[in-house]
Amino acid sequence: MYLVRLIYVSKIANGFGADDIEHILDTARTKNKADNITGLLCFGSDIFLQCLEGSRAKVNAAYHRILNDSRHEDIVMLDYQEIIEREFSEWSMGYVPESSLTAPLNLKYSGNNVFDPYKMTGESTQRLLIELKSTIPTIGD
Ligand code: FAD
Repeated sequence: MYLVRLIYVSKIANGFGADDIEHILDTARTKNKADNITGLLCFGSDIFLQCLEGSRAKVNAAYHRILNDSRHEDIVMLDYQEIIEREFSEWSMGYVPESSLTAPLNLKYSGNNVFDPYKMTGESTQRLLIELKSTIPTIGD
């Protein structure tokens, strides 16, 4: 089973509600545990940045489900690569809230200090996600 990492960006769709993030995380964690997928989900400025790691077949299947989800839109794949080891093996889907996406961190990895992964390279998003690991609790994801 080849190990891969996929990173994409998307925007919330009209009608996205306050409870939707919790529902998305609940489903993601349940399904990802069953499929041995790990990763992170960042949310800020109405934008999602998500990384999925796991076997090529399982990551591909999850990404297809995510593409068909009407709760978000403008989904753009930023990076996809075969990897030797996971970066996010402690989280079935770790969550990074807007408060962790600070101006200095955005400035370090993009052209300005606002969280906008549409304007970042795949490699910058990967490095940002790795740096964010230290901000996320592992207990209960
Ligand atoms: P079912 O539960 O059978 O649902 C059928 C359809 O309805 C699907 O297209 C589903 O996307 C959609 N749907 C389900 N609930 C709602 C709702 N409340 N409002 C509108 N449409 C809905 N899934 C994972 O497995 N792993 C992940 O890491 C993951 N991350 C996600 C990140 C984001 C930003 C979003 C928006 C979704 C994510 N999901 C993830 C959820 C994924 O899109 C699917 O909803 C989920 O995997 C269930 O798929 P299903 O085919 O079994 O759908």
